[in-house]
Amino acid sequence: MKILVTGGTGYIGSHTCLALIAAGIEPVILDNLSNSKLAVLNRIEAVSGQRPLFYQGDIRDAALLDRIFQEQPIAGVIHFAALKAVGESTQKPFEYFENNIAGTLTLLGAMRRAGCFRFIFSSSATVYGDPKTVPLREDSPRASLSPYGRTKLMIEQMLEDMQQVDPRWSITLLRYFNPIGAHASGQMGEDPQGIPNNLMPYITQVAIGRRDCLNIFGNDYPTKDGTCVRDYIHVMDLAEGHVKAWQVCGEQAGLHIYNLGTGQGVSVLEMVHAFARASGLEINYKIVARRPGDVAECWADPSKAQRELGWKATRTLDDMTRDSWCWQQANPNGYEEEAHV
Ligand code: NAD
Ligand code: UDP
Repeated sequence: MKILVTGGTGYIGSHTCLALIAAGIEPVILDNLSNSKLAVLNRIEAVSGQRPLFYQGDIRDAALLDRIFQEQPIAGVIHFAALKAVGESTQKPFEYFENNIAGTLTLLGAMRRAGCFRFIFSSSATVYGDPKTVPLREDSPRASLSPYGRTKLMIEQMLEDMQQVDPRWSITLLRYFNPIGAHASGQMGEDPQGIPNNLMPYITQVAIGRRDCLNIFGNDYPTKDGTCVRDYIHVMDLAEGHVKAWQVCGEQAGLHIYNLGTGQGVSVLEMVHAFARASGLEINYKIVARRPGDVAECWADPSKAQRELGWKATRTLDDMTRDSWCWQQANPNGYEEEAHV
């Protein structure tokens, strides 16, 4: 069975390809390489023993999408491709709406033409806005705090509307909390371009000596130690959640919504200490001003996914920090361009 994985050379998409292959499902990747490298394909092959079919191109290219659906017997789509930097989205809202929203519509149009109605969407905890209460349940109120967040919320709403009038669709919205970590082999991981926006890659780059000091954005939040609290989830647990979602929901028309998180809140300082434990290194940090748009606390109630999908995150915080560090040490500059194997 083949599944089209848009954004499949990216961080979460590439790890999900490993989980799909392990489950006997063949990923067909479409990626424009705007935020990933071709070398990822070599690594997927090295780790899994299988090189995924790859189309280099854009989800906004309707003719290319039609060709892929003609050439491949695609049973469904897992849609990762998106621009994802919250800060950048406030500077470039048009690009975010164009890429994420127009791109998703173009993809959905091609799926309808091809008669393919199984869709898993990479949503985010960002659709909960600034939560009034935690843990977050799938029916907690939604809001958006940035153009990026609005793309996720608007796509969720578009998908809901479409599913309501056309019951052929099986739509699964997976709301990720904070994916970190890397494949345990150390061969695949997160490879942000430029200065990392996210906490874990910033910490690993300080540890490896690429950056001097971690800036902790605020220690005056109403949390256990004043720093923000998030629900960090190992990227392989997240990847396996997609396989479960496909296996359970793919066959069932309807709208399915799941949080993918651990249910544990970890503060920025706790993460710095956990990383120090895993690496044996002290992480140089300083407290700086709050980052605009950050919410104090955000963690999941993941019990619906456990109940209905039979999925639960199993990897610990120590697994996450160890695997992130292992990946960074083996690949100090991330994926370097490699010859094709
Ligand atoms: P990523 O940037 O590593 O992967 C996204 C991939 O999509 C990249 O390889 C990029 O080249 C590709 N892409 C972007 N626009 C494209 C286009 N128009 N056509 C074809 N390919 C395109 O990001 P990621 O962290 O793997 O995130 C994957 C998805 O999960 C995104 O939709 C993101 O919004 C969502 N998400 C991520 C996080 C997170 O913290 N990483 C949290 C919640 C949700
Ligand atoms: N953070 C930080 N320094 C950094 C990057 C992030 O202090 O260089 C904090 C950030 O303020 C937030 C937490 O780490 O409280 C997680 O941030 P990230 O961007 O990884 O995830 P998100 O804010 O999207 O949940």
